[in-house]
Amino acid sequence: MKTPLPCLRRFALVTNAALVLAASAAGNPTAKEPAVVTAGVAGAPPSDAIVLFDGKDLSAWKGDKDPAPGWRIADGYAEVHGGGITTKEEFGAIQLHIEWAAPAEVKGDSQGRGNSGVYFQGRYEIQVLDSWKNPTYFNGQAAAFYLHNAPLVNASRKPGEWQAYDIVFHPPVPGADGKVAEGSFTVLHNGVLVQDHVPVKGDSTTAAKFSGVTPKGPLFLQDHGNPVRYRNIWLRKLD
Ligand code: MG
Repeated sequence: MKTPLPCLRRFALVTNAALVLAASAAGNPTAKEPAVVTAGVAGAPPSDAIVLFDGKDLSAWKGDKDPAPGWRIADGYAEVHGGGITTKEEFGAIQLHIEWAAPAEVKGDSQGRGNSGVYFQGRYEIQVLDSWKNPTYFNGQAAAFYLHNAPLVNASRKPGEWQAYDIVFHPPVPGADGKVAEGSFTVLHNGVLVQDHVPVKGDSTTAAKFSGVTPKGPLFLQDHGNPVRYRNIWLRKLD
């Protein structure tokens, strides 16, 4: 008697091929083996990260007023002082990890309390602000895409406590037809999703240092007159 197995085997092969095609069509290509990286523990940089501040020096940055940033470095952090700082290197699409703390001593209110900011390409700001029981306009509070989009929730910790942003940024890019292909922000604030693939259309705010749409630009950390502290800054290039 003839066994039905070869027929079943053929069916299985066809089914597997169909599954692979279906997976490809769903945007999950399997043609390239994912690169192996060593994940960091508790915010530590992974093996393929570019470290922008490890708590010791700001040599990856230049100052607004002086080539050497005037920020005070102590105990593994850098404190805003004497102007903003800009990375020497320019970046396109990135994953950024950055930790910050608003001053423990509360002074001022609204936008005058623990204000700084992380500017992607020197123009698109994810707001840094002490938003612990500190009302302000929604698209200007901590983790807002400043003047564009309020965060989904307020995941702020108390002033003086360390907070973390993990941000995936895809820049808008100039298209050949003269139109801008929009980019996006996805932001986790202290591990909580606060910006979920929010469009970046290329229009900037008046507070931005640079304007225009370019494939690459520097990171900029703002001096808004408040002694905000930063530590453990690293990124991964996604281009
Ligand atoms: Mg700001």
